[in-house]
Amino acid sequence: MSIEVKQIPCLDDNYGFLVHDVESGATASIDTPEAEAINAALVEQGWTLTHIFNTHHHFDHAGGNEALKEQWGCQIIGAANDAHRIPGIDQQVVEGDVVELGATRVRVLEVPGHTLGHIAYYFEQDQVAFVGDTLFALGCGRMFEGTAAQMWHSLEKLMNLPDETVVYCAHEYTQANAAFAVTVEPDNEALQARAEEIARLRYEGIPTVPTSIGLERQTNPFVRPTSSNLQKTIDLVGADPVAIFAETRKRKDHF
Ligand code: ZN
Ligand code: FE
Repeated sequence: MSIEVKQIPCLDDNYGFLVHDVESGATASIDTPEAEAINAALVEQGWTLTHIFNTHHHFDHAGGNEALKEQWGCQIIGAANDAHRIPGIDQQVVEGDVVELGATRVRVLEVPGHTLGHIAYYFEQDQVAFVGDTLFALGCGRMFEGTAAQMWHSLEKLMNLPDETVVYCAHEYTQANAAFAVTVEPDNEALQARAEEIARLRYEGIPTVPTSIGLERQTNPFVRPTSSNLQKTIDLVGADPVAIFAETRKRKDHF
């Protein structure tokens, strides 16, 4: 590993993340849910904040940008599509851009749906992805700005990453997601086992983030439109993936 990741509980159910490039000492905060908590983690690790990588403009993701930039003089990177609403943005990026964190190369993936300018950061050598509010453990973000088709294609893009990819999502929503997931894919044994494991972890106060692409592929109904059990449960046997995804998302919104 050329990077170290420090996960920081923030606000009610957010996670902030620090990514530290070991060789150069460069350190990025993935989003800025809470400047104080992020600062405390930096001090604890003895790291210097050099970058902020924003996934999207929501306050629980960019709310700490200005305070942290003022304190550290760090470089803020965010989506070109969202430049007008990312506080303090220095560098605008688009799909396929490669950002450097010291010696580590980070690929930008556009994943619209939750917001139109949402992006993810993929550390290819390390097989680590920071996906913001696009993909959650056993869930996905609400579509505040995008369409079901956009969100589906964004999830599909993430699902095309290798199974081993470690996925850091920005919220601890997993237990609530599990409660819904088992209702739409009741016959998925891997999902049932995971739901039990999640209940145990949360009872003990242990985070369920990160997850992995492989685990989501097996258990997350939002990325399983080909599951015959899901199709049957939501009455869309043989329908196209976007329609199945849209219906699953709609049911979760009203769950
Ligand atoms: Zn959000
Ligand atoms: Fe959020």
